[in-house]
Amino acid sequence: MWFGIISLFPEMFKSIIDYGITSKGIKKKLLTLNFWNPRDYTKNKYHNVDCNIYGGGSGVILKAEPLIKAIHAATQKVKKSVKTIYLSPQGKQINKLYVNNLLTYKNIILICGRYKGIDERIIHSYIDEEVSIGDYILSGGELPAMILIDILSRLIPGVLNKKSSNDTDSFFNNGLLDCPNYTRPRILKNKEKVPEILLSGHHKKIKKWRLQQSLGYTWLKRPDLFKKKKLTKEEKILFNEFKNDFFKKNL
Ligand code: SAM
Repeated sequence: MWFGIISLFPEMFKSIIDYGITSKGIKKKLLTLNFWNPRDYTKNKYHNVDCNIYGGGSGVILKAEPLIKAIHAATQKVKKSVKTIYLSPQGKQINKLYVNNLLTYKNIILICGRYKGIDERIIHSYIDEEVSIGDYILSGGELPAMILIDILSRLIPGVLNKKSSNDTDSFFNNGLLDCPNYTRPRILKNKEKVPEILLSGHHKKIKKWRLQQSLGYTWLKRPDLFKKKKLTKEEKILFNEFKNDFFKKNL
């Protein structure tokens, strides 16, 4: 997957280039990050990349022309069909369905706004989609862009190895949350023990227990997701057991 990133602060992306799964994906050449800085497309280095907004009021936005030139340069580089996304709090919120759909695109341009945002005419003429990471305001589109790249890189075949595979992660686990996981020591600070079943070596029973915990955790933590889930006969039995147990312990 090829990403063209339009940002005033490309250095911020060092963290995902140098660390973690995204870094592995880049090293394996399964994803590439390329940068265009609108500042490089101003008339001279003293010429501002931002300007006051028409109509008055506080704050500045990114000027259209340097942004358009940066978008053109990125589009020309890829020369193939490309999806252009503006990271914006006004966009549709990223979810599993959206990222799965985005995976069908090989080339994505991400535009990171700053200050009070970007000139509206850019959105009208150069953006395919506005995408948000949630109903709150960040200072720039760089963090949302990195979030989107991280999410996508986990889904690009070959980026994750078996150790960090995502098939049991929350939401990818048949619409359920992940089950609780434990590691050494078996008893923590003389208090909580690792559930016995996980030490039994009985893989079939462990699988069933994990499914039951995922069902129960989803019911407890994300009732909205649980409501959407159609349970099989086996899942219904496992869930009822979890629920009865939960009420016995907590009421
Ligand atoms: N005035 C804009 C508004 O209310 O819609 C917000 C501007 S914000 C301070 C600056 C930039 O941060 C935006 O142009 C956008 O690129 C990015 N941004 C802020 N919050 C975001 C969010 N929730 N999702 C995606 N991008 C966001």
